[in-house]
Amino acid sequence: MNLFEKNAAELSDMLQKKECSALELTKEVLAQIEKKEPVVEAYVTRCKDCMEQAEAVDNARAAGEQMHPLAGIPIGIKDNISTKGIRTTCSSRMLENYVPPFDATVIEPIRNAKMVIMGKMNMDEFAMGSSTETSYFHKTHNPHNPACVPGGSSGGSAAAVAAGEAIVTLGSDTGGSIRQPASLCGVVGLKPTYGSVSRYGLVAFASSLDQIGPFGKSVKDVAMLQSLIQGHDKMDATSAYRTYQNLYAGLNGDVKGLRIGVPNEYFGDGIDTEVKEAVYTAIHQLEQKGAVVNEISLPSTEYAINTYYIIASAEASSNLARFDGVKYGYRTAEYKDLSEMYEKTRSEGFGDEVKRRIMLGTFVLSSGFYDAYYKKAKLVQRRIGQEFANAFRQCDVIITPTTPSKAFRIGENIGDPLKMYYSDVCTVTVNIAGLPAVSVPCGKSADGLPLGMQLIGNKFAEQTILNAAYGYEQIVGGFQIIPSTL
Ligand code: GLN
Repeated sequence: MNLFEKNAAELSDMLQKKECSALELTKEVLAQIEKKEPVVEAYVTRCKDCMEQAEAVDNARAAGEQMHPLAGIPIGIKDNISTKGIRTTCSSRMLENYVPPFDATVIEPIRNAKMVIMGKMNMDEFAMGSSTETSYFHKTHNPHNPACVPGGSSGGSAAAVAAGEAIVTLGSDTGGSIRQPASLCGVVGLKPTYGSVSRYGLVAFASSLDQIGPFGKSVKDVAMLQSLIQGHDKMDATSAYRTYQNLYAGLNGDVKGLRIGVPNEYFGDGIDTEVKEAVYTAIHQLEQKGAVVNEISLPSTEYAINTYYIIASAEASSNLARFDGVKYGYRTAEYKDLSEMYEKTRSEGFGDEVKRRIMLGTFVLSSGFYDAYYKKAKLVQRRIGQEFANAFRQCDVIITPTTPSKAFRIGENIGDPLKMYYSDVCTVTVNIAGLPAVSVPCGKSADGLPLGMQLIGNKFAEQTILNAAYGYEQIVGGFQIIPSTL
């Protein structure tokens, strides 16, 4: 087996036992990038100093330095996470040439652990989308079938892991942008509890919903990376002040007595039969290992998409007001006065989907419609949160499909925003309620595309959902990540 096919946990072991060097590993991943990137196009920017970073790891190890288990593991970073000295574009023309003068808080532990930063990953513009087709630069292709989307908005991060073009990656999830692409690309993706990972330096889309989280080839990988990036940060006022456990050390995969809730609202008409069957099969396998399965009801799920798109767009319209051609980023070439400068800058700098969100958000916040839309959405948000809280009195984890279907074809949904928005029907409730959820590969479609299962936990119950996911991973004998057809 090639090094790039191995997961971070295995590679960490090999590096510590000196069975391979960080330089060898990085070289292999770079070679894989050279080979696959013409088809997959997962990166927006590639770092030029990967070999130097890897060499520094090997030198430090040779000198007997105490190393973090993730030292030397190649990582890709979604391009909305600020990286000092490395261009951070949000896949937008607006930030095409923006080089942040600071690191996001999550980047500090990554640098301190001496992970090898390979580059910045493609995404939907400003994380708005479910297919990575709204990137200003190029589309990313699903490694399992390049005619299909990788999902979005963290499509580059998911595709890179599936293609062996990075060992782990970071993404961000506002309504499903880690879990949905993880599902469509057949990798593991964790959306942590709101407040457990600092958002400082993450370019804001919808601040009350956004969360950074890890992608990997195994549950161990995401547990390791999440343990590295989680924690309180005084630079983020919404960061949770509490004790954070090492989730990797706590993994046991024991599902005996685990109470699984299965909400019927997530297995309705809009969900493809093959997806439902795959998830039911997985639930049954967990049951055979001693988990206790109960049907539950989350009745407000039918309002989730509307609620999400009102709240997320409202916050986006406010957050994106900062891109005005004055402070940073793109500015139009010619204008006669200040208001024309604003207007032309924003017309030229933003793509269609971003403009749609800004218009929708401004509308729902406007004085005539605030009560009818925004206020109502906030009320439904509270109800969704309460329904989850009630459900978690009866169960430890809630299992649903991650997405209503397998990966769709590039171009298939881009002209129909409502259809595109529907891809998030199983994921948005988790952000609305601020909960953690992980997506793991769960079988394949008839034509060989990955399907995903979502495990949702109560607030800060990352350990519980990762344990359940790890239990499932052991039942199926590990996940096959890299497609043989690629
Ligand atoms: N697809 C959803 C949207 O377009 C979610 C995006 C995200 O999680 N960043 O808003």
